[in-house]
Amino acid sequence: MVDIAHNIALVRGRMAAAEQRAGRRAGSVKLMLAAKYQPVENLLAAFAAGERLLGHNMIQQLEAAEEALNAAGADGSALRAGVTNLTHTTTVIGHVQSNKLSHAMHYAQRIDTVDTFKTAQQIARRQQARIDAGEAKIGEAYPILLQVNSSGAPTQFGCEPADLIELATHISETLPLVSIRGLMTIGANTPDTTAVIRSFSITRDLGSQLRAIPGLADATELSMGMTNDMELAIEQGSTEIRIGTAIFGPRAQK
Ligand SMILES: *Cc1c(COP(=O)(O)O)cnc(C)c1O
Repeated sequence: MVDIAHNIALVRGRMAAAEQRAGRRAGSVKLMLAAKYQPVENLLAAFAAGERLLGHNMIQQLEAAEEALNAAGADGSALRAGVTNLTHTTTVIGHVQSNKLSHAMHYAQRIDTVDTFKTAQQIARRQQARIDAGEAKIGEAYPILLQVNSSGAPTQFGCEPADLIELATHISETLPLVSIRGLMTIGANTPDTTAVIRSFSITRDLGSQLRAIPGLADATELSMGMTNDMELAIEQGSTEIRIGTAIFGPRAQK
């Protein structure tokens, strides 16, 4: 059986060591749990260990997990798992089809995979509808990260690095109901450390350019780093790593 609390302690240890090596403040990097295919018991075990940040790839799983967490609060199973407070933050880290956007925005507090103006525009429209329905405050912008295809892999989603600043500027100038908080990337999937570091440094440099855009000085989030490359990402300035395997064990499905 996978000991989730133990695995979380190990990941937290790796994070602390990487922060120290990189000369970064202890605790400056956030840990997001990549929750795909995890049953609610595993999420509750992570909550019991103190974690509160979830990332989901698939909107159906996101919805099911949020409902299951609610139910676990209502039927006492959360308490039995040692969780007295179910307050948490959920983020979308997988590609979202436009017909799933309204569910995504209902259940998640941020979408980290925006890579086209069209998607941002759909989020803005949906946010206006949420405001009209009283689900969001008047003028409240919906938070997003822009996904960068920093590895150049044709199979990866994400905006081309060369187009990122134009995309961000266009969104920032024309869509007040969308709030860009930073960038997300998936590092190059290769044992070649130099290539992995390059994906992260490209994203970090784009982050600096992003914050120079008027109104985006606070777009500081850099979501990068997974089980196999979290140390490299932290050394390159990641503010948030997304960890699945090192916490929950190998996934049954992929
Ligand atoms: C699954 C997933 C992760 C976590 O990957 P691990 O290697 O299992 O830690 C991170 N980010 C995204 C977008 C994912 O889909």
